[in-house]
Amino acid sequence: MENISESMKRYMDQHQLNANYQKLMNTVYQDADVQAFLKQHADQLNAEQIDRSSAKLYEYVNERNKLAAGETTFAPGYEPKLVLSDHLVEVSYQPTDAQKDKLKQAALKRRVNAIMMPKLVKNATFDDFINDADRTQALQAAVAFIEAYSKDQKHFHQGLYLYGSFGVGKTYLLGAIANQLADMGIKTTLVHFPSFAVEMKNAIASNQVAGRLDDVKQAQILMIDDIGADAMSAWVRDDILGVILEYRMQNELPTFFSSNFSMKQLETEHLAETQKGDVEPLKAKRLMERIRFLSQEIEMIGENRRQK
Ligand code: ADP
Ligand code: MG
Repeated sequence: MENISESMKRYMDQHQLNANYQKLMNTVYQDADVQAFLKQHADQLNAEQIDRSSAKLYEYVNERNKLAAGETTFAPGYEPKLVLSDHLVEVSYQPTDAQKDKLKQAALKRRVNAIMMPKLVKNATFDDFINDADRTQALQAAVAFIEAYSKDQKHFHQGLYLYGSFGVGKTYLLGAIANQLADMGIKTTLVHFPSFAVEMKNAIASNQVAGRLDDVKQAQILMIDDIGADAMSAWVRDDILGVILEYRMQNELPTFFSSNFSMKQLETEHLAETQKGDVEPLKAKRLMERIRFLSQEIEMIGENRRQK
């Protein structure tokens, strides 16, 4: 009795399937790229291994030709490449230059520029946002801003001035807004203001204040986190914060704040007095006028959510 493979062979011969297969594979083996690859790896592939790799070689030639002809390929945006894996040929798909550009652009667009912000900002989303009664007003204002700004970026939109005690989720909400905007292709810069002030002081020596300050003041959307947390020097107040606020008001750029102080408290208890103890209520008033122009004051109350 003849075995199965012999009867298969006879069947294929009768129907000329073998001949067609051979013809197909001949064009694959004669392909210049395939030949170059096999030559390059001649010492790592014997005839039997090449034969076992035939489906992969065929896939490579087929996909490469489709890509060249502008037809839809198995992995759009990716091009096939022959690679050797454990004495067999494999096809690896690598992004085309156009695809690399596209991925880079998308990453750039999505990026939230977080300057010395806590890690929680990266993962803050509205999906994970615990929304109890205490947070409803802030949340609604946040959503209203995102809706209004994403629909019309030409006109001025006031940001939010979120205030309330430690741990109620002000920074978290700013992060969630920034990440949502990033998903919509809108870039936000978040700055932890007390740390930024220290960085600016250190940048004096290396002459980098102006450059760093420009990046921040010109941000498409700026969020100034924890304003008022540390005593400010007159220089930080006037030449850093003052310059940022002036620029953003003149150019009507959306600006957010978070603080432990209400606007009133920030003015009288923080901005009016410098580190040295000088009291300058007029300067504080001018700064507050800008903050009031730029943002809407919203109190956040509730429990401290920080893990103790
Ligand atoms: P604040 O800036 O007001 O001091 P944070 O934003 O740092 O407070 O929040 C304190 C902690 O509570 C963080 O660990 C944050 O991840 C968590 N948190 C705050 N608000 C929420 C929220 N709405 N949903 C889920 N987690 C939150
Ligand atoms: Mg905070």
